[in-house]
Amino acid sequence: RRTAIEGEFSHLNPEQRRAVLATEGPLLLLAGAGSGKTTVLINRVANLMKYGRGSDCDEVPGWVTAEDLAFLEDYAAHPTEEGRARAEQLCKVDPAVPWSILAITFTNKAAGELKDRLERMLGPSANDIWASTFHSACSRILRRDIDKLGYDTSFTIYDSADAERVVKDAMKDLRMDEKAFPPKSILGYISRAKDAMKLARDYAEECAKSGDYRLQRIAQVYTEYEKRLKAANALDFDDLILRTVLLLRQDEEVRTYYQRKFRYVLVDEYQDTNNLQYQLASTLAGGYENFCVVGDDDQSIYRFRGATIENILSFENQYHGCRTIRLEQNYRSTQNILEASNAVIRNNQGRKGKELWTDQGAGDKVQVYTAMNQDDEAQYVAAQILAGFSEGCRWKDFAILYRMNAQSRELEMAMKRNGVPYRIIGGTRFFDRAEVKDMLAYLCVVNNPGDDLRLQRIINNPPRGIGAKTVETAQILAARNGLSLWEVVSDARRYPDLQKAAAKLGAFAELIRGLRKAAGEMPLTQFYEVLCADSGYAVALEAKDTVEDRTRLENVRELGSSIQSYLENAEEPSLSGFLDEIALYTDLDNHDPSEDCCVMMTMHSAKGLEFPVVFAVGMEEGIFPGMRAIGDEEEMEEERRLCYVAMTRAKQRLHMTCAAQRMLYGRTSANRPSRFLGEIPPERVERSGRNPLSMGYEGRLTESDWRPERETYGGGEKRPPVGGYASGRPSVGYDKGYTAPAAPKVPPVKLPGINARPPAAPLPDFQKGEMVRHKAFGKGMILSIMKMGGDALVEVAFDNVGTKKLMLKSAAQYME
Ligand code: ATP
Ligand code: MG
Repeated sequence: RRTAIEGEFSHLNPEQRRAVLATEGPLLLLAGAGSGKTTVLINRVANLMKYGRGSDCDEVPGWVTAEDLAFLEDYAAHPTEEGRARAEQLCKVDPAVPWSILAITFTNKAAGELKDRLERMLGPSANDIWASTFHSACSRILRRDIDKLGYDTSFTIYDSADAERVVKDAMKDLRMDEKAFPPKSILGYISRAKDAMKLARDYAEECAKSGDYRLQRIAQVYTEYEKRLKAANALDFDDLILRTVLLLRQDEEVRTYYQRKFRYVLVDEYQDTNNLQYQLASTLAGGYENFCVVGDDDQSIYRFRGATIENILSFENQYHGCRTIRLEQNYRSTQNILEASNAVIRNNQGRKGKELWTDQGAGDKVQVYTAMNQDDEAQYVAAQILAGFSEGCRWKDFAILYRMNAQSRELEMAMKRNGVPYRIIGGTRFFDRAEVKDMLAYLCVVNNPGDDLRLQRIINNPPRGIGAKTVETAQILAARNGLSLWEVVSDARRYPDLQKAAAKLGAFAELIRGLRKAAGEMPLTQFYEVLCADSGYAVALEAKDTVEDRTRLENVRELGSSIQSYLENAEEPSLSGFLDEIALYTDLDNHDPSEDCCVMMTMHSAKGLEFPVVFAVGMEEGIFPGMRAIGDEEEMEEERRLCYVAMTRAKQRLHMTCAAQRMLYGRTSANRPSRFLGEIPPERVERSGRNPLSMGYEGRLTESDWRPERETYGGGEKRPPVGGYASGRPSVGYDKGYTAPAAPKVPPVKLPGINARPPAAPLPDFQKGEMVRHKAFGKGMILSIMKMGGDALVEVAFDNVGTKKLMLKSAAQYME
């Protein structure tokens, strides 16, 4: 039997195998990235179902003693009646039933993957294992027994939008001003109270004691909020966990039921659990205490959501007799990538300290590319992906990781221009975001007020007291009179049915007229600022000031960057030209996202995943680490852990990029390269780029290199020569596969007006029907060329990859 079990898990190393076979008692598996923690967790479940308790050599005494083995060998050769009982006892297998196993992971994606892998290993019986997220495990428990807490088992789950609605309603009744008390921030307070397991009554008491008026008002909202959810028989996400924990605490019968049921409890990514999640998992595991937690203190990146590293660091103290297993071999990455990541994380103080090694070869050095600006950075990424694809990689081998969602726009555009299929994970594509669509709708209406659809989108956005009923009436009138919605709205007084709303519609029409006038009088970027202000859109977002709204505001500003780069590149810039270009980019995107494509996501959502080639972009002070972290040691350590997570996603090749100048949120700034780049030993790095030497570092960064915080090359000598880039090819070459564009780009400058632009480069000369060869896509024929702004959209039928739409200027670099 031992041979069978060990044979079954022979693909694991001895430490991993020990963690898989040690089924009984608390177990802490603490190990660095890529050391096989998740792999162990999955194999552990498989072992539990096949051999169970019987495999635990530490726990079943005598199982592996030499004496027992000798006895078994002897018994196998000469079976005797007396020996039989002992042999049977020794060979007993005690597999766990699937429903006695609870395996919790963090995201739906991870839970789905866990289920898939178990089903492949174990067949259909794997379906009965509770492999789920915290939330889905809780809703399952509550569906059965929440009546014991006075709810109905048919309860509804409120998502965050629902929850916000309730808070707003409650605030209205309490006569609270949303400006003074932004609803989202109140929800944050409620959530933190719940994480501390405080119901409204306890929280109100505590706030009353504090004597803080603001907190007392917030406690009133919490009380109202709780009341309303209860009345609606609804739970929000935090409630799901909180009510489960309370149910388990209060009701002995329920608690005993689950504590008997779950013989084995396993939690992956344990470093990111918050207090409630810890309470839940430890209570459920409280019966048998066969509680296995898996994690890496160096990858704790959810402190801002209440996750506490303490949960993992104090596990050994909470569970006496806990077995701790550490894994030290990394199976994911090459030596250069691993050493680079180790070197970065070593700069954190608050860690248990562990080093990983790998027996994979050195591999490629970490590629650090210093781009001229964000355009150049995005083009570098696209070029590297195309080069990799032409060498036989699949698209899905590539992942692009950024710190903030707002950074994705430039990258998306580069992928589209170059025909690289991509998918954004855990976020909406830039131009699909509601706030971006809103601002584009304003631009469309200013450009063409007859655009009914766009007009509808913005007429009461931000809220101007124009109700849905009024819009409907106006639409009916428009249809009846054969007019556009705008024609009716802008002349509302003429229609008796619109009398009541006439003043408000009039004000809106005045706004649009004013904007149309302004659009004709000033440069587009300046006009965009006027639009953000006059429409009230930016103001409304500023007023709310929650994390989400700040992101929205950033995206709104980011669209300004888009306009700016359009102005820099277009031959004859105009508002309609810009809108065409955007429509075109949307049109370029015709692939099926479930197909092979490269992925883009934030560093946070990359946790637990791995890819052959990873790009960590925007490695600049002020971006990553972000402004908040600069000067705050704890935040800085959290950022560094995030950097470690990002770097350790790479299996074969890791690219890290920074830009000498970056336009983000409509502002251009010159950031210094991230200190994290400076923490990588120079011998692990291969630098390239436009002009890395003028960036002010060669080898390691010293502290004086990145302080003071937001210096923008004021001193003179370190400032990249603005004209210098444009004066020819860069002195330091690009990586293989990346050919510098023939026409040097002019670094972004503040444009005095639409017409004062640098002359645009002429379009490369290609004809319809011409046969071309593209470096990545191979041979093909040009089906059509359509001029668009300062560029052209070419449609090429390639022999091997089908028909692709590409932007000519980008594509020309790779075509002959
Ligand atoms: P993370 O900290 O990023 O979540 P992890 O510790 O969970 O990483 P896994 O994702 O389980 O690591 O494993 C990383 C890679 O190493 C996977 O591709 C896995 O298949 C491989 N791997 C793990 N253990 C072994 C082993 N013993 N032999 C070969 N490959 C292994
Ligand atoms: Mg993992």
